[in-house]
Amino acid sequence: MLQIQDIRKKYVTGDLVQTALDGVSLTLRDNEFVAILGPSGSGKTTLLNVIGGLDRYDSGDLIINGISTKNYSDRDWDSYRNHTIGFVFQSYNLIPHQTVLANVELALTISGISHAERRRRAIEALEKVGLGNQIHKRPSQMSGGQMQRVAIARALVNNPDILLADEPTGALDSETSLQVMELLKEVSRDRLVVMVTHNPELAEAYANRIVRVKDGQIVDDTNPCMPIVDEEPPTHKNMGRSSMSRFTALALSFNNLLTKKGRTLLTAFAGSIGIIGIALILSLSTGFQRYIDQIQEDTLSNYPLTITSESADMTAALSAFSSLMASGEDNGEGVVSEQQMITQMFAQVGSNDLGAFKKHLDDNMESVKENINSIQYGYGIKPRIYAADTSEKIVQVNPAVLFGELTGSSMMSSYMDSDVFQQMVDAPE
Ligand code: ADP
Ligand code: MG
Repeated sequence: MLQIQDIRKKYVTGDLVQTALDGVSLTLRDNEFVAILGPSGSGKTTLLNVIGGLDRYDSGDLIINGISTKNYSDRDWDSYRNHTIGFVFQSYNLIPHQTVLANVELALTISGISHAERRRRAIEALEKVGLGNQIHKRPSQMSGGQMQRVAIARALVNNPDILLADEPTGALDSETSLQVMELLKEVSRDRLVVMVTHNPELAEAYANRIVRVKDGQIVDDTNPCMPIVDEEPPTHKNMGRSSMSRFTALALSFNNLLTKKGRTLLTAFAGSIGIIGIALILSLSTGFQRYIDQIQEDTLSNYPLTITSESADMTAALSAFSSLMASGEDNGEGVVSEQQMITQMFAQVGSNDLGAFKKHLDDNMESVKENINSIQYGYGIKPRIYAADTSEKIVQVNPAVLFGELTGSSMMSSYMDSDVFQQMVDAPE
């Protein structure tokens, strides 16, 4: 039994908050064919994905056989998806360059079974959907209805308790749709099938329960099921099957190793060295990446991004210049033309509102901080400072005049003067 209790789910994209599920409560029997009907955007897909563990709910609870999923870890969800749920999508989602058989075989997640056994189960599932004689075709060689049947076989190969289908007949003509519906009805005999559709006729003809949703809420249920009210609140338990104790797993794999002929301890040892080798290479390459990132960051602090109050688009200026050079047109005799070279070149100079920019940075420092190491502001002010000891003569310390005096040219000194007053860079956090 699957209990959905007051589940809510919002999608937030930028400033937009989209309520997909708005307090949905629904109890599903172990054995029924439920059709979920509703207009586009009403939250059908979201509901199905939440039931199947493909999407997380914001609040509420999904109770699987009396076990709350509130504290489920990623591993618990994986195990739930792999062992309990089969999915069928509108667009089949088959791997195009693999055969039908390979497509179904790939979905077999139960580990520890031999290749022959995998193949046997895949063929069995394909026979169940009436494709036993087409197993070596590729999906591209099949009709839409056949591809959807392959998808159903793939969903059933793990023998899940619950089959979820999102508009499985959405891309099919009406005749083929009926075949697929027949198949789903057949499948629902010994498991729960939840199908999303926007075709009310199909739902009425095949499903034994119709749940209508609108704006993320259930507005009608033709065959409601009362939830079991337990004395004790449902608690979290680990999903048995995939959580083997580490020791059991080790013991099992060791046993497996011993029973397999030709696989001696030596090959196991060699294998483990191989794995360590791969791990080493991986760590080396991530280490390298980190080193490169570090170098990039360091380089950036040597050549920081500078924003000045006046700035020129050098590329535009140069291209304006070169196009002027190229257009040496002949104006005929006796005509002198004028070229506004400088004007055009410097038409590209713009000014930046640095005051507003600084305010923006100050106001949003919390979010800006993540992307920077430090910010320095320059105000174009050079304080003139003289040495306190004037007994010999007056010495200007800032801006330093040493070079000017050495070379005797003030031109030189304006290039060489060293600005002693620098804002200290913040230490990176
Ligand atoms: P349905 O399957 O009934 O057409 P959905 O469950 O796909 O509806 O969507 C329900 C609402 O949630 C819609 O308003 C849709 O725009 C929104 N939504 C669905 N998925 C996402 C997503 N990944 N990101 C943002 N909004 C989404
Ligand atoms: Mg949908």
